[in-house]
Amino acid sequence: MLELRPNCECCDKDLPPGATDAMICTFECTFCADCAHDVLGDTCPNCGGNFSPRPIRPAHLLVKYPASAKRVFNPDCLTTKQAS
Ligand SMILES: [Zn+2]
Ligand SMILES: [Zn+2]
Repeated sequence: MLELRPNCECCDKDLPPGATDAMICTFECTFCADCAHDVLGDTCPNCGGNFSPRPIRPAHLLVKYPASAKRVFNPDCLTTKQAS
């Protein structure tokens, strides 16, 4: 089951379980579509893998299988872009 992390790891934008612009890698590093594409060039900075759109979990299932509340944020991600 997906963790459904609540934010973009790069810009800290909120990505609720119903967000349509959430992208994840195979390890579920989670980014918004803008960061995944424009900042990271569609490559996960943590594992080097690619991204897929994160599926939406329907609201009635969130009651039984709640999304993660643990924010993961790595501001270095934006610095990496400026350097390159
Ligand atoms: Zn972002
Ligand atoms: Zn990754």
